Amino acid sequence: MIDIITLLPDNIANQIAAGEVIQRPASAVKELLENAVDADAASIQLNLTDAGKNLIQVIDNGKGMSETDARMSFERHATSKIRNIEDLFRIHTMGFRGEALASIAAVAQVELKTKRDEDELGTLLEIDNSIVRKQEPCACPVGTNISMKNLFFNVPARRNFLKSNAAEMRHIIDEFIHVALAFPNIFFSLTSNNQQVFHLEAGSHKQRFLQLLGNQYNTKLVAVKEITDYLNISGFVAKPEAAKKTRGDQYFFVNNRFIKSAYLNHAVVSAFDALLPKDSFPVYALYIDLDPSQVDINVHPTKQEIKFEDEKIVYAFVQAAIKHALAQFSVAPSIDFTLNADIMQTEAISQPFTQEKKEMVTASELYRRFSQKNQAHFIEPGMKSELKHWKDFYTDTVQITETIQPPVFGFQQTSNESMQLVTDMPFYQLHKTYIVAPLENGFLIVHQQHAHERILFEKYLTGIQNKQSATQQNLFPVTLDLSPQDGALLQELLPDLELLGYKIEAFGKHSFIIQGVPADVLQGNEKHSVELLIEQFKHFSNELNFSQRQKLIHCMARQQSIKAGQSLTDKEMKALLSELITCGIPSVSPNGNPVFVEFTDEQLMKMFGK
Ligand code: ADP
Ligand code: MG
Repeated sequence: MIDIITLLPDNIANQIAAGEVIQRPASAVKELLENAVDADAASIQLNLTDAGKNLIQVIDNGKGMSETDARMSFERHATSKIRNIEDLFRIHTMGFRGEALASIAAVAQVELKTKRDEDELGTLLEIDNSIVRKQEPCACPVGTNISMKNLFFNVPARRNFLKSNAAEMRHIIDEFIHVALAFPNIFFSLTSNNQQVFHLEAGSHKQRFLQLLGNQYNTKLVAVKEITDYLNISGFVAKPEAAKKTRGDQYFFVNNRFIKSAYLNHAVVSAFDALLPKDSFPVYALYIDLDPSQVDINVHPTKQEIKFEDEKIVYAFVQAAIKHALAQFSVAPSIDFTLNADIMQTEAISQPFTQEKKEMVTASELYRRFSQKNQAHFIEPGMKSELKHWKDFYTDTVQITETIQPPVFGFQQTSNESMQLVTDMPFYQLHKTYIVAPLENGFLIVHQQHAHERILFEKYLTGIQNKQSATQQNLFPVTLDLSPQDGALLQELLPDLELLGYKIEAFGKHSFIIQGVPADVLQGNEKHSVELLIEQFKHFSNELNFSQRQKLIHCMARQQSIKAGQSLTDKEMKALLSELITCGIPSVSPNGNPVFVEFTDEQLMKMFGK
C-alpha cells in the first residue's frame, strides 16, 4: 500500500488560508492599513482603482523593513509582533498572526518597496501567486509602499464573486473609517481612481469624528470619559436629537480595534432609555481600553469580534458611563445610574474578578458609584419595555432574512376562491393585531401586518413590472445627507427606486434630493422613508436568494404596511381583507410567515364533539 498524504505546496496552502483573511478588496485594505499603523507611521495614504479590484496601494512613512524582513514578511506565520505564548496575552498591535501578507501574495500581484531609516537603500520585491519574481535594492523614501494589483487574478471564481464597484467601495470606506477613527493622530488620505475621497489631517478624536462623519455633529456630541482601574472609556455619543433613522454611525473600539458588538450596543441604547426618539439609533464612537489579557481577539479571522474575559462588567461600565455623560451634559433629566437587575446579580458585579482585583476595582469611582445601594436601583421586571424598539428591530431583521418556507398551520387551509367573506357582519380586532373575519362556513384569524405586507408586496411587484408605479411630486424637494457608505448604496439603488416611484437625484458627494416618492408614502415622511429603506436593505445584503429589486420591494412593503398594534376600524379591516383575497398568494407573507389561520364549521363542530 503506498502512502497517500502529501504536504500541500506553499502557494496552494497560502491560497486556501487566504480565503479566510482576504475575502474582498476591503479585507486587504484593512490588513494593509493596520500594518502601516503597526509600523508607527504618521502618514498613511490609500490609493485605489476600480474599488480595489485592480489596485490597492498603501504608502506609509513608518519604520520600514530590512531586506531580510521584507522577504520574510510574505511567509505564512511570519510576524515581528509576537514571539511566545505569553505575548498573545499582551498584544498592543493590530496584527499578530503573520498571515495577511502571505495571503495577499497568494491571491494578487504584489509590489513592495520598503526602507528603514538606517539603511542607505531600500528593497524592491515583486511577488505573485506566492512566488518571488524580483528582489533588488532600490532607492525609496523611509517607510513602506505596497501595491497589490488584480486581486484574485489567479482565482477567477472568487474574482467573479466580487460585487459592483459601488458595493466594494462601500466596504472599503467602512474599513477606512474604522482605522481612521481609531488613530486620529495619524494623517490619512484616500483616493479612488485618482480622485480624492478623504484627506484627514492629524488631530483630536473629536476632529477626526467630524472630518469623517460630518460637521453637522459639531454641537451635538457629548463627551464620554470614565477612567477606572479596570477599564477606561472615552469618546462621544451624539445627543438624542441627532440620533439617526438608520443604524449607521455606531463605532466601538477596544484597545483601538474596531469591533462589532450587539451586546455593547444594547448597553448604549439602554443607557439612553426613553430619551431616544422612537425608531432611531444612537450615534456614537466609544473607545474602551483595558488590559489586553482581559480580551481575546483571536476568536475571529478578521478580528472584528472579540471575547471579553468578563463581558457583563464591560456592559455595566459602558451603560453607566453613557448615563453619566448624558446626565452631566444635562441631556438626561437626572443622574440615575440604573443597572439592569440581571447584571446586578452577576458575580462580576458582586464579586468582581479575583479577590485582589476586586480591591482595585471597588476603589474606583465608577464602580463605587454604581454599587452604592441608593444610586444603583434595580429596574423593575416590567421596565424592560424601553428596550422594545431595539429588540423589535432585531427580531424583525432576523425574520426578514428568512427564506420563504411553507407556513405550518394547525388547520388545513382552503384556497381563496372558496373563501367567502361575510361582510355584512362586524369584523373583530384582537390585541390590535389579529382580525377575526367571518366566512360563509367558518372564520379566519388574520395577522394584520402580514396581510398588508402581502398586499403591498404584490402591488409593488406589479407596479415595477409594468413600470407604472405612481409618484407624488414633493411640494418642497427634501435633501438627504448620507454617510459615504450609505451614499454609495443609495446610488446603486436609484434605478430600482425609480421604478418603485421614487424620484431621487444625486447632489454633491453623498447628498441627494428627493423630488418625489411613491403615492402611498405620507407627506412629510419622505426622508424617513428613504433612510429606513437603506437601513432595511443593509440587513438584507447577505441574502443571496433575492435580487436587489426583490429586496427593495420586501423593504417597501414592510415599511408601508399597517403594523401590529394599530387599531383598525371595521371598514378598514374589511377593505384590507377584500384586498387580501384577491392576492396571488394570500396565505403567506413575503417573508414566509402565515397570514391567516382558517377555521371551518366542520372543524369547529368536531372540536366541540359534534
Ligand atoms: P502581522 O501583521 O500579523 O504580523 P502581516 O502578514 O500583516 O502579519 O505582516 C508580517 C510582518 O511584516 C509584520 O509583522 C511586520 O513585521 C512586517 N510588515 C508588514 N507591513 C509592514 C509595514 N507597512 N511596515 C513595516 N513592516 C511591515
Ligand atoms: Mg498585519
